[in-house]
Amino acid sequence: MALDQKHVLVVGLGMSGIAAARFLKNRGASVTITDMAKEEALASQMPLVRGMGVEMELGRHRLETFERADFIVLSPGVPHTIAPVIRAMEKGIPVIGEIELASRFIREPIVAITGTNGKTTTTVLVGEILRKSGRKVFVGGNIGDPLIGYADRAEKAEIVVAEVSSFQLDTIDSFRPRVGVLLNISEDHLDRYPDFSAYAESKGRIFKNQQESDIAVFNGGDLRIRSIAENIRSRKMPFYDKTGEYPKSAYSGAIGKDRIVFHTPKPLFQGEENSRKVGLGIGNFFSLDLSAIHLPGGHNFENIAAACLAAFAVGATEEGARSAVGNFKGLPHRIEFVAAVDDVRYFDDSKATNVDSVVRALECFNGPVILIMGGRDKGGDYGVLEDGIRRRVKMLVVMGEAKEAIKSALGNVARIKTAGSMDEAVSLCRQEALPGDVVLLSPGCSSFDMYQNYAQRGDFFCRAVENLKKKSL
Ligand code: ADP
Repeated sequence: MALDQKHVLVVGLGMSGIAAARFLKNRGASVTITDMAKEEALASQMPLVRGMGVEMELGRHRLETFERADFIVLSPGVPHTIAPVIRAMEKGIPVIGEIELASRFIREPIVAITGTNGKTTTTVLVGEILRKSGRKVFVGGNIGDPLIGYADRAEKAEIVVAEVSSFQLDTIDSFRPRVGVLLNISEDHLDRYPDFSAYAESKGRIFKNQQESDIAVFNGGDLRIRSIAENIRSRKMPFYDKTGEYPKSAYSGAIGKDRIVFHTPKPLFQGEENSRKVGLGIGNFFSLDLSAIHLPGGHNFENIAAACLAAFAVGATEEGARSAVGNFKGLPHRIEFVAAVDDVRYFDDSKATNVDSVVRALECFNGPVILIMGGRDKGGDYGVLEDGIRRRVKMLVVMGEAKEAIKSALGNVARIKTAGSMDEAVSLCRQEALPGDVVLLSPGCSSFDMYQNYAQRGDFFCRAVENLKKKSL
């Protein structure tokens, strides 16, 4: 793709937009960045772009600028349905995302991971398994470093592992991961997609350009995902719950009661990978004891099964998988144990920003749970929590913009109290909790009504718990 002398418009002045602008500039393009936010609101980004030699149009989008571009690079935070983007597309101007741009300049095999939940956990784990298998990897995408930043680097990895969101998949064209992973699809981002089908379709795009020599790792226990997988060209490697029904002939990761059994073809690829020994056990079976896994919940068995399959597909070894999984303690703000105060255990699951992640978090606990939910509503159906709440939750504390919506959906299945702040929420939980109980922050909503992001929300929760601990000493 020739970039020299091209007029490129980058929409969105976030991390990926800035990295894309730098990349384009380094290759001789003339770059304009536009963002609806005003300069004052972009104060932290401005020093990164000043001196880069790019034009800036802030506080508005000018239609002429969109129409004049040779092509447009859209940041994942900007919907591809905004009027100037649609106008540009109607005029035949290519609109692509940063991962599409990056992938055109990346020669190494890409492992791309998407799904409603578990992307970050699985992406990090794939990276760890490959590292422990002696492979040089770059891990980034929707987490950490944008892919375009990698494309700009002189020092290359052997394998690129990328977390990919549905928004990023909306703006791909030829993006073709060597291994695509689709973990799950449940209701999320319905504030940005017209309906659930549109969101699911967007997730399915991860496999769109794959060919016979590529690999699709997907959740075989999910009927919607199974039907997406029916029409793909790539080799299928599902993971599934062994106790459920799934045609067992496929190459797969089967999650049983006490272990995950992997069956993968060997060798997977002709060519470069072939020359490296894919270190799976005799007959290509490999099994991982669930007792060696330190992450809570069945959903994490799925993430681990997916991560191992994906990593094996690009040459991970059995030892690498065992060692990485055995050492992996999970990531902050994902059902993270914070502290025990007076025999009550507190868990921070602030990253649970949609309803299904709350369902899965509740499944991790047997004893009574006091649950804190709320934040900015994303259009999901809180009703799917009824069963889990009936079984496990003794009291629900709601906060933030979504509190009324949650109350009206769940008022008849739980006792509900309302809090105006995280401190108040934690203190209400403490008043209610008996020894042996669990207090769980699993909001099921985004954090942007009261916090900068989910991490800040989780930090507020942890601080409130630490204060309780100090008082109880
Ligand atoms: P993502 O990057 O997709 O947001 P994370 O790994 O950061 O995924 O986890 C986000 C939330 O989803 C956490 O609350 C976590 O406990 C939950 N979660 C992780 N994996 C799964 C899964 N496979 N299914 C449902 N929920 C999950």
